[in-house]
Amino acid sequence: MTADLDTRIQRCIRQDVQSMHGYAIQPSAGFVKLDAMENPFRLPEPLRTELGRRLGEVALNRYPAGRIDDLRNALKRHVNLPDGFELVLGNGSDEIITMLSMACDVPGAKVLAPLPAFVMYDVSARLQGLTFVGVPLTADFELDEAAMLAAIAEHQPALVYLAYPNNPTANLFDDTVMERIVAAAPGLVVIDEAYQPFASRDWFERMTRHPHVLVMRTLSKFGLAGVRIGYMVGRKALVDEVDKVRPPYNVSVLNAEAAIFALEHADEFARQAAVLRSERTRLLAALSKLPGCKPFPSEANMVLVRVPDAAALFAALKARNVLVKNVSGLHPLLASCLRLTVGTPEENTLMIEALEASLK
Ligand code: PMP
Repeated sequence: MTADLDTRIQRCIRQDVQSMHGYAIQPSAGFVKLDAMENPFRLPEPLRTELGRRLGEVALNRYPAGRIDDLRNALKRHVNLPDGFELVLGNGSDEIITMLSMACDVPGAKVLAPLPAFVMYDVSARLQGLTFVGVPLTADFELDEAAMLAAIAEHQPALVYLAYPNNPTANLFDDTVMERIVAAAPGLVVIDEAYQPFASRDWFERMTRHPHVLVMRTLSKFGLAGVRIGYMVGRKALVDEVDKVRPPYNVSVLNAEAAIFALEHADEFARQAAVLRSERTRLLAALSKLPGCKPFPSEANMVLVRVPDAAALFAALKARNVLVKNVSGLHPLLASCLRLTVGTPEENTLMIEALEASLK
């Protein structure tokens, strides 16, 4: 029986899929969870009760339809989408990345991104059979302009991803360099603004000057990681093409209702983001005083920090019940680096105390 199943797996499942690992999620129950750039705040109790009532009214017997349009319209208002632009919804921005890989799978298509970057640009491209080209950032995590322009000229990528701010480095790339890369790109450029609620600049205005630029955002970092809503905006003609590969009914009515509710209370989420930005300042100051630690500037709800021994410090923090992400093995530029998510003031204090005790 098992031998037979093994044979079928060998015959039916792609070799590259068989040899890959699924997206890894660290077990986190019972930990101070600061590993995944989640918003640590829940909604205040009265809003939770109101949301529960709203979700109870949703017609679960019907496929998602009108309420999804309501969500799209609410998002368009939220971002003030100009005329001539359109918005596509994904089950998280992860699904939009998958849709982009599918839609851009013209013969010989390549996807290009600076590295280190969000891993799904690479994984999704390769799963679709596209070639992924990674161009290392400079040592201070800026775009390597000459290398990027040379790679664009050589590979003529159908898609270029630029995360703004970048994950896991947390910085915004230099704008002049970004402009030159956008101008040089022969295909589409996706500016991934997942961390926009925590950043001082964005590409919304600039997008309107470049017809081949798409801006992707998510409600995950806004405060709804569990709800799985991502979206992408750009010129209507372009977004309509990408929308054609979207799986039918990809966004659940419950998710849509929760997201509409959250957008009605966007001021509450804006307050939470303001607390997190100020906590980021406190965390950066504390990290810069720790022996042997070098935190990098951050425009997101995470801080990348170079430490004396990332594996040892990760384990010592875990032993003190604080879960962060050890990114040191992901790319040579991240050697000896941990990525810390900014949590509540109490969680950050616990993390700082655990860091101090571990580095003694
Ligand atoms: N883009 C970036 C840069 C990310 O870091 C992440 C997740 N951490 C995503 C996209 C995916 O976000 P989601 O699928 O939750 O919308």
